[in-house]
Amino acid sequence: MQFNAKRIPEGHSVLSQNVPVTGEKAQWLSTVGDVSCTADVDRFQTQIHLHVRYQCVVRMQCSRCLTPITQPLSGEFLLVLQEKTRSQDRRTLPEEEVDLFFDEATGDVDIAPLVFDEIVLSVPMKPLCSEQCAGIAVKNDPAIVVDLAGENPEIDPRWKALGKLRNKENR
Ligand SMILES: [Zn+2]
Repeated sequence: MQFNAKRIPEGHSVLSQNVPVTGEKAQWLSTVGDVSCTADVDRFQTQIHLHVRYQCVVRMQCSRCLTPITQPLSGEFLLVLQEKTRSQDRRTLPEEEVDLFFDEATGDVDIAPLVFDEIVLSVPMKPLCSEQCAGIAVKNDPAIVVDLAGENPEIDPRWKALGKLRNKENR
């Protein structure tokens, strides 16, 4: 989401933009189409407050069976932008309250990286194609199912061999 702060009027306004996921971020995030963003913008002199809402469809892989899946994701967050001024203006916010500084001379603002960070954080860690997903059926043995989600870690084949030995001893 890019805009020029010089064109943001004092008071309230609304910005809407479709943001493509490109460049470095595309390694972390794959979407079907663009990320649709709408922001409520409130400007007070050199400060700009944004309430951003985003919507997109994320491409993922089922954490159990590795099937590609898509899932709609949406969310919202607040951002505080502050013009970088050389003068010691009392109306400027302290640094720790500012998410992004923009240049007074150019006014260029790009909040796309911040939107992408929010989306990446809201992507589920272990997505499932369905709650009932049984995981990967091991080749030639449909009875063995590997649960990659980690709740039932696969038994190391060497331990299985030990188990067989033990069973023989008990006979
Ligand atoms: Zn699955």
